[in-house]
Parts: sequence; structure tokens; C-alpha cells
Amino acid sequence: MNIFVVNCGSSSIKYQLFDMADESVRAKGVVERVGSDEALLTHTVGGQKHTRTIVARNHTEGMKYILALLVEPGIGVLASTDEIDAVGHRVVHGGKQMSRTCLIDQGVIDIIRENFVLGPLHNPPNLMGIEAAMTVMPGTPNVAVFDTAFLATLPPKAYRYAVPAEWYTRHHVRRYGFHGTSHRYVSVQTAALLGKPVEQLNVITAHLGNGCSMTAIANGQAVDHSMGMTPLEGLVMGTRSGDIDPAVVFYMTSVGLPPGEVDKALNKSSGLLGLSEFSNDMRDLLTAVEGGNEKARLAVECFVYRIVKYIGAYSTILPSLDAVVFTGGIGENSTPVRGMVVEGLSRLGAKLDVQRNDATLRGVCGPITTPDSALPVWVVPTNEELMIARDTETIVKAL
Ligand code: ADP
Repeated sequence: MNIFVVNCGSSSIKYQLFDMADESVRAKGVVERVGSDEALLTHTVGGQKHTRTIVARNHTEGMKYILALLVEPGIGVLASTDEIDAVGHRVVHGGKQMSRTCLIDQGVIDIIRENFVLGPLHNPPNLMGIEAAMTVMPGTPNVAVFDTAFLATLPPKAYRYAVPAEWYTRHHVRRYGFHGTSHRYVSVQTAALLGKPVEQLNVITAHLGNGCSMTAIANGQAVDHSMGMTPLEGLVMGTRSGDIDPAVVFYMTSVGLPPGEVDKALNKSSGLLGLSEFSNDMRDLLTAVEGGNEKARLAVECFVYRIVKYIGAYSTILPSLDAVVFTGGIGENSTPVRGMVVEGLSRLGAKLDVQRNDATLRGVCGPITTPDSALPVWVVPTNEELMIARDTETIVKAL
């Protein structure tokens, strides 16, 4: 089966074409600056990168161009776009209605639209991608894989906020969680690596990228998660604050910052960037720490401390703990950050294996603790696109 996976942002289309026979990627790429007649397309086939400036005034035009490339003589990988068996779409917010991957019909489109209010930056472009695929590939099934779906198993005690009940019943204020497709993929891979059925897996997965989130997984199901009603809550992130006292918001408006500016500051100029006052990129910060930069040191310390604190909390709510698992750009690559977190978990019995930690980089999967560590810590590279492709294949096979 050929599955075309699409992730649409407001001005971008990321895509991968999978051959599900061996789960290989036949072609992948991204269109940036969608909405202009000078959009930039980067298309990769067999390790060769091709860049072009194209006209993509909307997502439909961009997608039409991508499909043409997939069959273009010379670099094409398909004889005809009819060989695409299904399209899998990343959709960020499924609200409280969507708890699993599903075939897209009018009802699902209506739900994605109803949840614009909860995912204002992501759901509208995700829907544009779905409509584009339906226009350029009429008759091909489309499947929606929701970022929130894996977190739909959180119990009320984990997803409810202790606020007036009407905020929840009338305005849907609750924890939804994000990065669910990544946490699910990583948990499935970890179960296989540990040789356990996923239904018996008890782990804490930490997705540490620009956005950072953590999930407590009991018997294969998410039971708690660090992001909230929006992706602002929880861990310290590249530019987002994570947890703060909500009263800070009112205080800052009372000293003259307009509410919109407070919102922007918490999302775009807080986190590692806010604390260090110079970068949201972990690599820059670690280099600066080496050079004696105190603000960078504090930013990294806050980042690590919050992770250790959450792991401590989650370890007490799980029936047992098979492993802590790192993923995402920082989780997969940052040896120093992982080392500091594992040192912070010594009370839970984690023992860092320095050599393993140093060797586990750039897509390598494996444990970074010693064989006798009471708490194993693993690195498992994420692959949300493959998870979307697998889900899409399962849905389409059942049709
Ligand atoms: P996104 O959440 O946007 O998908 P990524 O998962 O790519 O982001 O993660 C981006 C973060 O990963 C950045 O903070 C970057 O510094 C960090 N990162 C990537 N490679 C390394 C590395 N080799 N060492 C340290 N940090 C890294």
C-alpha cells in the first residue's frame, strides 16, 4: 500500500509517501510560504534533494504540485497518482469527541471545525489540507490522526482542573494534551524493545523538542500528561513558559501589559529563550554554559529540574515503572541534558551509563543507563509520520 502522509500548517505542507510493504519512505518534502506565488518546495527522493520555487497560492495548489512531482519523469516514484491508496492527515485537536484515528467523512470534518476554537492555530490549516487532498485526489480515502487522541484515556482526576464546574460543562475547559501521536509511537516501540505486550507497559515518555511534553502510561494507556487545555502548560519549553501561577497573568495586565501581549510573551518569548535572554535552542545554550554564561546555565537548570520533578510525580501514580523514555530533538540528541536528568533520578535508582549516553544520538535507539540500573532510561526516536501511515493503513484495510 502507498500511503501519503500530510501535515499542513498555516503556510506549509509537509508530506511523506510511504510504501507500507516495508514502511520505507519513497519521497518526502515540504512546501513553505504557501499562500504566495513564490512558495519554496524541497522534495527529497533517494537521498537527493530538489528545490523549486512554485506558485502555491493555497494548500490545494501546493498539493497539486506535489502530486505532479510524484509522477514526474526523472524524479517521480509513481506511474500514476492513482497508486496512492490513502491519505493520512495529522490533525492537532480532536476535542473531547475524537478518541481515535478515523476515516474522514462530513461528520469528522464538522468536528474538526467545531474544535477550531480549541486549536485556532492548527485545526484550520489541518482542515485546509484535508480539503485540498479531497479536491486533488477525489475518491481516495482520507484518514485523520489526532494529536489529542492518545490522551483521551486520561481519567477525570487528571484532565479536570479544579475550577467552577461550569467552565468545563459549558466552555470545555479541561486538559486535552498534545504530541499524542509521538507518545503513542514511542510507547509501542518501547514495548517491542522491552519484549512486553503494550497492554502491560508502564512507562513515562518525555517528548523534548521545541515543544516539550510528558505522558504517564499505565498498562499501555495514557493516565496523565503535562500539556493542558493548550500546549502552554507543563515543562519548560523553547519559548513557552510551561507551568506558572495563573495569577501572574492578571498581575502583568495590572502593571500595563495588554492581555494579548501577555499571551504572546508566555508562548513566544518565555521558556529557555525568556530565561537565557538569547536563544531557545538547546545547542546554543549548552555552548554558552561551557563559556560561563550564567543566564544560559539557569535556563538549562530550570529545564532539567522541571523534567525531574514531573518524572518524580508520575513515578508515584503508575503501578510500576518499566522505563523512562526520551524522544524529540533534545531527547534524541542532547547527551548533557539527558545526563543531568538521569543524575536527578538517582533516588529512583537510575544509573547513567556515560558511554551509552554519548553513543545514543541522531536516530540511534537504546538504553542510556547501566545494565544494573534499577530504573532503565531509554532513547527512542519518534516517528509521527510513520504512526500516521500505520494508522491509515489499518483503517483503509478494514474498509
Ligand atoms: P520541534 O519540536 O520543532 O519538532 P525538534 O524535535 O527538532 O523540534 O527539537 C528542537 C530542539 O532540539 C532544539 O532545542 C535543538 O537545539 C535540539 N537539538 C537538536 N539537535 C541537538 C543536539 N545535537 N544537541 C542538543 N540539542 C539538540
